[in-house]
Amino acid sequence: MNRRDCRTGSGGLFFCRNRKFKSKKWQLSVFLLTFAYYKPIFTKVEKAMPINCIGILTSGGDAPGMNAAIRAVTRSAIFSGIQVKGIYRGYRGLLTNEIVEFKTQNVSNIIQMGGTILKTARCTEFRTEEGRKQAYENMRAAGIDALVVIGGDGSLTGARIFANEFNIPIIGLPGTIDNDLYGTDTTIGYDTALNTIMECVDKIRDTATSHERLFFIEVMGRDAGFLALNGAIAAGAEAAIIPEISTEVDQLEQLINNGFRKSKNSSIVLVAESPVTGGAMALAERVKNEYPQYEVRVSILGHLQRGGSPTAHDRILASRMGAAAIDALLEDQRNVMIGVANDEIVYVPFTKAIKKDKPINRELLDTLRRLSI
Ligand code: ADP
Repeated sequence: MNRRDCRTGSGGLFFCRNRKFKSKKWQLSVFLLTFAYYKPIFTKVEKAMPINCIGILTSGGDAPGMNAAIRAVTRSAIFSGIQVKGIYRGYRGLLTNEIVEFKTQNVSNIIQMGGTILKTARCTEFRTEEGRKQAYENMRAAGIDALVVIGGDGSLTGARIFANEFNIPIIGLPGTIDNDLYGTDTTIGYDTALNTIMECVDKIRDTATSHERLFFIEVMGRDAGFLALNGAIAAGAEAAIIPEISTEVDQLEQLINNGFRKSKNSSIVLVAESPVTGGAMALAERVKNEYPQYEVRVSILGHLQRGGSPTAHDRILASRMGAAAIDALLEDQRNVMIGVANDEIVYVPFTKAIKKDKPINRELLDTLRRLSI
């Protein structure tokens, strides 16, 4: 018996051998009494019942592991007797009615694939009230009672607004390589991107050492430095320039000087793409002007960070989160993002998750400084 059956089943309630207790009047009295005493239980089951069909979409920037999440949501829903509809191209698909019923076979053989089989898009119409109204009407016409949205902070911001406007149950899954959503230790795709960065920096190190060069390597992360900082530690880089620490630029000059004066053959600095850091190009220009003796090179890793087969960590994370999204809906949770904190599933209200104040671990920064002498 699956979880849904357990919740709604009333097996044996009216089964009784005594003739007196078999009468309709008697049964009705028992029912009413039971209802009076256990009203909260009945109320909860009533609330959870209307979710017969969910829609699932991926939105915003793609991230490795999104497919594993789609698979987990689809299979967990079907396991619990809930119908699934795949919505193509994020919120745009709701507006253009790109909605297809998903069976278990639709998500076969995708756990190892990067990208998203549902495609993703950015949709400006969804930012308007009229756009969202149309999306709601299409969603209801397709028989969808609740949504699972996989995406970054923009997508979850849209989900929060949509849910509040139309009182729709929406569960979010953090799908972004940036790791910038609060309340979860990591987001789906972050670990894969981090490993990609590490492998790329290892390769650049070979050529940097051979030519005794100073490399600035720009990595993604939008306004967050998780990829740059952790990538720097994993690849043994000399420094990370991250938006959370704006004074780092000046410390960098000192560090490069020391590094080159000592026995270092090469120096590698990871720079988070952000208006705060100025990006790798601008930093390299500045260092070239101030230290003409150094051979400076720039490498911008770009979109290759988004691709590739997800790591075991991301596949497991996405699978756990996808299954938890269905649990959350069955538990009558609404408007929360699924997180994993200290290895436990947590429900994070959208408002908290998207606040953009996920702190960087300062201990890692200190470790990087000490290990790069
Ligand atoms: P990500 O989810 O990766 O952060 P975006 O910030 O581009 O990506 O957001 C993805 C989509 O989410 C947008 O194209 C838009 O459709 C929707 N969205 C983002 N912010 C809002 C908002 N404030 N109101 C409504 N929809 C939004």
